[in-house]
Amino acid sequence: MASAISIRDLHVSYHGNEAVKGVSLSVEAGNLVGIIGPNGAGKSTFLKAILNLIPKDKGEVKIYGHTIKEVRKKIAYVPQRNDIDWDFPITVLDAVLIGTYPHLGLFRRPKKEEKKWAFECLERVGMQEFSKRQIGELSGGQQQRVFLARALAQKADLFFLDEPFVGVDASSEETIVNILKELCSQGKTVVVVHHDLSKANDYFNRLILLNKELISYGAVNEVFQPEMIEKAYKGQFAFMKEIGVSM
Ligand code: ADP
Ligand code: MG
Repeated sequence: MASAISIRDLHVSYHGNEAVKGVSLSVEAGNLVGIIGPNGAGKSTFLKAILNLIPKDKGEVKIYGHTIKEVRKKIAYVPQRNDIDWDFPITVLDAVLIGTYPHLGLFRRPKKEEKKWAFECLERVGMQEFSKRQIGELSGGQQQRVFLARALAQKADLFFLDEPFVGVDASSEETIVNILKELCSQGKTVVVVHHDLSKANDYFNRLILLNKELISYGAVNEVFQPEMIEKAYKGQFAFMKEIGVSM
């Protein structure tokens, strides 16, 4: 059977500056994958290019052997906080209802059934009491829960989340992690760009260590070598030297 995600020789650049260089890897279904790397390492770019939201210079991405276009409905994406317009006037319930749209026919508005499902998704993230609130009036953790509820409402098979724990309280973080783990245990595939390295060990079972190029990818204990990681975040050059990547 084809891998959940298969990436071959992915290159992305902005105005001639390469942000992602020649990344190839495959992710099998049911994994909870963390993407780690310093600021500006191309983590968000990598996700966006996989999802076809920005153009690639080169490379191929297959989802269960299909192009993104063919399976877009099955993929949920929660962008980085600062890519979302939080002042956009929309209630919590409506934000989650958007997740049900891929399953609605043309010109069909969400009905009772979709509303009920959206509400169930809100319950799952513990936000049912806030359904009528504007999303701009929520805390960071609450906003992130709502976006996860929207992703759940989509009934996706693959979930991509970009830094979902930034600006989020500990209890929301725990709720989100538990739901992501549950999704994986149901055979879904979850890819998360993550910053707080201390938790990488507990949260993920695969890690992608990225710094424009793919530095390392594999089981967490293979990739997560404390000395390596520490150096990665202290000084990029020392880190790259340490692990034998020439620059
Ligand atoms: P990360 O998510 O790892 O912090 P990004 O993918 O956001 O990194 O950015 C990778 C590099 O590409 C950075 O040097 C960043 O400045 C640059 N970059 C990101 N988005 C754009 C853009 N829209 N236009 C030009 N350069 C960009
Ligand atoms: Mg980013």
